[in-house]
Amino acid sequence: MSDAVRKLIERLAPDPVCDDCIADRLALPDRQEAGIAASELAATSQFERRRDACVLCGNTKPTTRRLP
Ligand SMILES: [Zn+2]
Repeated sequence: MSDAVRKLIERLAPDPVCDDCIADRLALPDRQEAGIAASELAATSQFERRRDACVLCGNTKPTTRRLP
């Protein structure tokens, strides 16, 4: 699961993507799961989590991105 989330974020790097779009793109039944997986990634030095404009939906929300 978190592997799929990581791949999606890496594909969009270095642009940030929100939890809703992650859940949407991966057809996850639970949006919270996307947030949990994204938070786990953000605990590593390669990913960052912050409020930003999502590259897919354009809304300013908590997003995750792969650092360049
Ligand atoms: Zn979005």
